[in-house]
Amino acid sequence: MTTELEIGLYIFMLAGFLGYHVISRVPPLLHTPLMSATNAIAGISLVGSLIVAGADYGPLSTVLGFIAVTCSSTNVVGGFLITDRMLRMFKKRDDQTAQRRRFPIDPKILLALAVLVISFLALIYRYAGFSKPAVHFIHDVLSTQALKYFYILSAAFFILGLKGLSSPKYARRGMFLAEFGMLMAVVGTLFHHEIVSYQWIIIGFVIGAIVGGTMGLRIPMTAVPQRTALSHSLGALAACLVGISEYFRHHGELSKVVMTALGFEVVIGGLTFTGSLMAAAKLQGLLPGHPITYKGQNVFNLSLLAVIAGSLIYLVIVPTSGTLFYLMVGLAFVFGLLLVIPIGAADMPVVIALLNSYGGLADASMGFMLMNKIQIITGSLDGTSGFLLSLLMCRAMNRSAINVLFGAFGKIKKEEGGLAAEAKGNVRSIVPEEVAVLFDSARSVIIVPGYGMAVAQAQHGVSELAKLLMKRGIDVKYAIHPVAGRMPGHMNVLLAEANIPYDQLYPMEQINPYFPEADIALVVGANDVTNPAARNNKNSPLYGMPILEVDRAKSIIVLKRSLRPGFAGVDNELYYDPKCMMLFGDAKESLNKLFAALKS
Ligand code: NAP
Repeated sequence: MTTELEIGLYIFMLAGFLGYHVISRVPPLLHTPLMSATNAIAGISLVGSLIVAGADYGPLSTVLGFIAVTCSSTNVVGGFLITDRMLRMFKKRDDQTAQRRRFPIDPKILLALAVLVISFLALIYRYAGFSKPAVHFIHDVLSTQALKYFYILSAAFFILGLKGLSSPKYARRGMFLAEFGMLMAVVGTLFHHEIVSYQWIIIGFVIGAIVGGTMGLRIPMTAVPQRTALSHSLGALAACLVGISEYFRHHGELSKVVMTALGFEVVIGGLTFTGSLMAAAKLQGLLPGHPITYKGQNVFNLSLLAVIAGSLIYLVIVPTSGTLFYLMVGLAFVFGLLLVIPIGAADMPVVIALLNSYGGLADASMGFMLMNKIQIITGSLDGTSGFLLSLLMCRAMNRSAINVLFGAFGKIKKEEGGLAAEAKGNVRSIVPEEVAVLFDSARSVIIVPGYGMAVAQAQHGVSELAKLLMKRGIDVKYAIHPVAGRMPGHMNVLLAEANIPYDQLYPMEQINPYFPEADIALVVGANDVTNPAARNNKNSPLYGMPILEVDRAKSIIVLKRSLRPGFAGVDNELYYDPKCMMLFGDAKESLNKLFAALKS
């Protein structure tokens, strides 16, 4: 006979395959919204948290459940709002001129409705004093029968929601379906037969909605990577706390299957929580961005992982070893910190994607523990999405995931970079007025934005300049490298925020054939992704990384502050090319001066 566990494993696997199929069709343009959308969907851990917070499992479980509800609802509300904010920015050239047909329902209103409906239903159910048959109907029929179908429908809506992200045209509609799916799952869970009190659920939900709503509506687009990392940490903490609460409630008397799922949940949840916090702090600049390394670091980390794995195996055999359980959770928290410390800030995007995947696995483990199929499905979808994105990032940098996680890349390469920088030639510098003269005779320009543009927050300056050039009949295209920026697809979001139509943004494979015809390649704060050494120099650490072939343009103008190398710490051969001219200075200021020179 097929057991619940087997069914769960089948569901996990099939959801993973389906997720791969759907998510691999999401274009790089929408990779950042994809991450925040999967983040919001993974907030389905809310359903498990609601039960723990509302059931009569004891004071500790209620407290842990309350914190978990707060964290998960922050992710759901914040994740959907920021995804919608980003998707609204993606417009085609035609959409900007013609009156765009408005999407019929503003998701903000929908979410506000969700909060109202949930609070209303919860209050009615708790205080209105239903007649006995009504209570019986809600408990025995609605909670067990209807909930199953609610969850199945929700899962279908989530998958359709992610499918919508395969095109900016349908993305918002897709997300609306996913939001509706979430609403159904949450409202359905409120009628779960074990929930006896709604007080802490409502308080947690209100706090989560306020925090998540503020983050979703207010956070600047340049801070999206930090927000994403922070929400991974909240989701993982929710999963971890629900696991601890369940272990405490049963005093460790759990079957081997449940203990295995619970063990994975708390370990992966714990390390993802602290690891994501570290990543957020590095991206926000609260911690030094360079890799922090010490002798024997990898051996120490792997030994710690082995101790955690050993404890988990022992706990599956002897689940009542309470002290070992809490020690294992503590070690998982420490391991998360140690895992991220040796990784440089510029590698954080890969780490965020990987932690996204871990968060999904923690969610799926929670699903196995509670035998809740919707959580298994969303956990698997989230896991697949994060894993796929991290692999794409690694491929675009021509590096292995092992190298990113254990290579302390920024550090090693900076030392090598010092040596590489000796091979120098002449560098031509240029002033904005001279650049303006060059633009006078140009017919086509390709703008290459990089990490430096994001740092300088120069996207609006880029947009203004491009508009001016287009008014003069110059063809303007943007070249987007998959790892330019601070997270997968981040450059697209920043440019969309500056009202640049997405049909002007070309991914690397599509734009490279255009470079030989371009009169000017204008590089704004990009460095490694334009380095010809990646193509020509077998000794370069960048060798093999696919690049934007800027050097094939008729002339090249680079906006950066100095000749300092980029993230990889390697001198850029491009700057010594006779066709290349350097406009030194902060990208935002240089663009302002250039704009003024062109106008005059
Ligand atoms: P990059 O190689 O790191 O170079 C950025 C350049 O921007 C720097 O050389 C810097 O030069 C300049 N810059 C910084 N602040 C500036 C300012 N205010 N104004 C003007 N210029 C400024 O960037 P990239 O070419 O975009 O390449 C991204 C790098 O990150 C790659 O090595 C990639 O492998 C790595 N990475 C990215 C991701 C991702 O998901 N996006 C993931 C992992 C790794 P100055 O100091 O001279 O101004």
